[in-house]
Amino acid sequence: SPSTRIAVVTGGNKGIGLEVCRQLAGNGVTVVLTARDEKRGTEAVEKLNGPGISDVLFHQLDITDASSIAGLADFLKTRFGRVDILVNNAAYGGVEFLRGPVYNSASCEEELSGMDRDQRLEWLWKNSQETYDAAKKGLQTNYYGTKHVIEALLPLLQASSDGRLVNVSSDFGQLRHFRNEELKQELNDVDNITEKRLDELLNMFLKDFEAGAVDACGWPRAFSAYKVAKAAMNAYSRILARRHPELRVNCVHPGYVKTDITIHSGLLTPEEGGSRVAAAALLPEGGFTGAFFEDFKESSFV
Ligand code: NDP
Repeated sequence: SPSTRIAVVTGGNKGIGLEVCRQLAGNGVTVVLTARDEKRGTEAVEKLNGPGISDVLFHQLDITDASSIAGLADFLKTRFGRVDILVNNAAYGGVEFLRGPVYNSASCEEELSGMDRDQRLEWLWKNSQETYDAAKKGLQTNYYGTKHVIEALLPLLQASSDGRLVNVSSDFGQLRHFRNEELKQELNDVDNITEKRLDELLNMFLKDFEAGAVDACGWPRAFSAYKVAKAAMNAYSRILARRHPELRVNCVHPGYVKTDITIHSGLLTPEEGGSRVAAAALLPEGGFTGAFFEDFKESSFV
């Protein structure tokens, strides 16, 4: 029906994204589950469609591929003429994992049992390696990829009477991880920060990374590219919220979740993480914009 809301979810084939698709569809939303891999995406849609859910469809989307983004935008325009909810969930960890077989296997449960959050994050860090290529890919995917998807779908969100943009962020993107005070202030200055300045800062980060000066320059320690990319996405979200009062633009931390990106070291299930994202997508009309959510509540970007 024309009143059914249309949602698009990026990286919908597994983890939190798959759960967001399931939960939005369970709330009567027509969901376009996107994935970069056709096979993984269509298999995920087959998993979801069944008793109670039949409104999930697949479209290919690699958020780092301009022609793939254009193809999705064309499809949505022709098929629906609008998008009511865009959930930018797809992301890359920005590190290389050191233990190949463990990754993806969910087999580390025993090793992790009894560890608290900080011990688990420490374990994750010990099993990761920050390389320049992985850092660069982290920025390209998590910041630029997401931004390009938003730019392409913005006119379709504006065609909705209640367009919502939900950016899956992270507590790792909060500015407390930055130890350079000037940088922190600049990223928090929503009235003056620009997209051009964000590009400059990300280029500066890569230069410092290459020079081995991440720590010395006060960038976040450990998972630094991931943290910098999420912080930039948060700043961009706040720019968009200000520029587009006709939309709701919010960021959500899903919690520390057992998925591939954490080598299943998290404390929450994908269902629990997904529910935090779905809640932000389904906020009552006229609610928050330019906000950061954590545990179903508004929290701080800092
Ligand atoms: P997963 O690794 O399980 O899922 C990541 C998803 O992103 C996959 O579907 C993956 O596709 C997709 N993806 C990666 N690169 C691209 C690309 N170029 N184009 C399209 N899709 C891509 O991780 P999560 O489910 O945990 O992550 C979901 C979101 O939650 C991310 O934004 C993450 O940063 C965020 N988050 C997660 C936390 C956690 O503890 N798990 C904590 C805080 C934030 P493919 O299968 O093809 O690789």
